Amino acid sequence: MTEAVANNSHREVDLLVIGGGPAGMAAAIFAKLEGLDVLVVEKSTQVGGTAATSAGSLWIPGNTQSLKAGYKDGPEPAARYLESLISRGGERNLRMRNAYLETGPRAIDYLEANSEVKFVACGKHPDYRDNTGAAVSGRAIVPEIFDGRLLGRDFERVRPPIQEFLVLGGMMVAKTDIPRLLGRFASVGNFFHSGKLFFRYLMDRLSYSRGTRLTMGNALVARMYYSLKKLGVPVLFETQLEKLVYDGGAVQGALLGSKLGTQRILARRGVVLATGGFAHSEDYRSRFMPDAKPIYSLAAPSNTGDGIRAAEELGVRIAPEDNGNGGFWTPVSITHRADGTKGLFPHLSLDRAKPGLIAVNKLGKRFVNEANSYHDFVEAMFASEGKQAIPAWLICDTAFIQKYGIGSIYPGTTDLKPFERTGYLISASTPEQLAKLINVDAAGLLESIRLNNEYAKTGVDKDFGKGTTELNRFNGDPAVGPNPCIGPIGEGKYHAVVVWPGEIACSTGISTDEDAHVLNGKGEPVQGLYACGNDMSSVMADSYPGPGTTLGPAVVFAYRAIQAITRGKNMPRQAGDA
Ligand SMILES: Cc1cc2nc3c(=O)[nH]c(=O)nc-3n(C[C@H](O)[C@H](O)[C@H](O)COP(=O)(O)OP(=O)(O)OC[C@H]3O[C@@H](n4cnc5c(N)ncnc54)[C@H](O)[C@@H]3O)c2cc1C
Repeated sequence: MTEAVANNSHREVDLLVIGGGPAGMAAAIFAKLEGLDVLVVEKSTQVGGTAATSAGSLWIPGNTQSLKAGYKDGPEPAARYLESLISRGGERNLRMRNAYLETGPRAIDYLEANSEVKFVACGKHPDYRDNTGAAVSGRAIVPEIFDGRLLGRDFERVRPPIQEFLVLGGMMVAKTDIPRLLGRFASVGNFFHSGKLFFRYLMDRLSYSRGTRLTMGNALVARMYYSLKKLGVPVLFETQLEKLVYDGGAVQGALLGSKLGTQRILARRGVVLATGGFAHSEDYRSRFMPDAKPIYSLAAPSNTGDGIRAAEELGVRIAPEDNGNGGFWTPVSITHRADGTKGLFPHLSLDRAKPGLIAVNKLGKRFVNEANSYHDFVEAMFASEGKQAIPAWLICDTAFIQKYGIGSIYPGTTDLKPFERTGYLISASTPEQLAKLINVDAAGLLESIRLNNEYAKTGVDKDFGKGTTELNRFNGDPAVGPNPCIGPIGEGKYHAVVVWPGEIACSTGISTDEDAHVLNGKGEPVQGLYACGNDMSSVMADSYPGPGTTLGPAVVFAYRAIQAITRGKNMPRQAGDA
């Protein structure tokens, strides 16, 4: 060994988990519950990774939480649905899909019963396509709201959510809070609910850097971290994987780097790679993702492909051919924060499907069903001829913004000037003027608005079928007819917000088997090495079936990895498990 090794740096554990995101923390929880001596290593100063900023949904067909709430589902329709979507990955992908569907509810139930990670059914939350086997309700679960105060001083160890999603600069809201906050004067119930949220937030700010009522992905990772603490699993912060130790035909541990130097950790039962993928590695992006510049990634900045790089050094297989464009995407707009920094706002579900908005390319023409999933929207940007839809423009009028908001502009915002001053929002009195300001073809834009206004009357989008899918209508406005996703544009001024392709997760990663066991170039398992979360080539290949496409597999394959390592002493098992 030529590496400088810090004093007292040799240590031996049963399982070494690299990465303190949901995949790594789930693996660590499962391993500890199985009686293993586990160490989690986290590169940054906080746990949570990208998931801390996520919506926190997990796609688990047949989950117990939804069955209890009265929704019927199971692996069979979900298997048909995935089969209709996924054409890549061959037999290996099929085995992984089946394993995923069969294990999902079991893994979640085990986690819930034995840790502080608790879930609730989302209820209605349609799958993202209407293919055979798709469900409208009951497939997604979200973490229960978590009281961050339970973490004490370690609350600050949880990575915060996206700033743009916080109310009053620090208060998290759940999806279910949004209509109640917006309609706070509409009913006594809403008024008291909103009042309670604001009061709790004000109290929090006396002692904490942000609100402690955690929702969505932040609740998920805080619950995982709280569970690790209760189980006594150590997390080594500001320490990163540098290299895997491979000897005698198996991974024996890893070299870790920190301010103290390099330390060598031996792992008797194996190493789990969960470093969140390669989003911030230019090298891997150029190998596995479309050449779209500038790069806008919503992944945690510390996700630089370290797990994949270390595995590649051992000759493992990376699976780009299974994963199309290599990412799971969302359109993003660039925000300008009060402190002078810039942020990214993901246009996931709040604005694109609402009636009175169109997305156009450089020719001023629509190129996509705006109400489709964020992933499909960006795939259409990539597919646009000559990249004419990169960037694209979201076009609406003042009445739309008042009612629904757009991007980081909340509904009801009357003073649009601050957004106009930074260039986030471009406004003009006529479509021609707007076209000139945003440099798109004026005749094309005029025609797109004319057609939109005609479709608003008939309810039929002859070009892209907006409003025809369950997902479209779910995110539309049910009070608007004949089509909840199409409304006229022309009241007040005309506005535009520019959007770029951004990614929320990598889909390409290390090739594994259905137990998250890393495969070498010949397709054989590498002894002692597992990969979960975005380090693993996604079971969904290049499709995005529904809410929770990455967090569901992150937890389920962590479960399967630990089950394979320990033979699942305490874990509920089924025929066919390793
Ligand atoms: C706005 C937004 C909304 C989203 N909503 C959803 C959703 O609702 N459902 C869903 O399924 N997905 C969602 N996602 C995607 C989801 O957050 C990610 O796919 C998920 O977080 C991946 O989990 P992970 O554990 O693999 O990686 P991460 O959560 O990114 O965690 C990786 C961790 O590894 C650490 N790390 C990196 N390198 C090293 C190293 N060398 N050594 C040690 N540690 C290292 C990082 O610091 C980080 O803490 C969303 C993403 C965004 C941005």
